[in-house]
Amino acid sequence: MSQTDPDYDVPSDMACDAYKEAIADSAYRFPATRWATTSTHIAEQARKVCDEASEAFYATKHGASLEDVADELLDTIHAAETGLRILQALNDVDVNAACARVEAKNRARGYYEFSGGAL
Ligand SMILES: [Mg+2]
Repeated sequence: MSQTDPDYDVPSDMACDAYKEAIADSAYRFPATRWATTSTHIAEQARKVCDEASEAFYATKHGASLEDVADELLDTIHAAETGLRILQALNDVDVNAACARVEAKNRARGYYEFSGGAL
């Protein structure tokens, strides 16, 4: 018998499967922020991505814990996701197609190849 996940109120193995299925079809890891539907300022959001990346860089240079660095990197991803959601709302951009293009580009560049072969 499986355990129940209190956040989902379903057996945890089912919650995990539902989560995997949800993220498999989405470019997004985080929930939408309020700016995703209210902002039309993509340049401002791109600047926010830079700000968060700068915070991550600053953290690495000023003795922050690895957990703090991880948090800043994830802030960067979240800000980027908000920018993608703004683009999607403004121009009906297909973000999943954009993900596929970027992955294909990086695959062609060999970014996913390791000494033991591609993952
Ligand atoms: Mg931050």
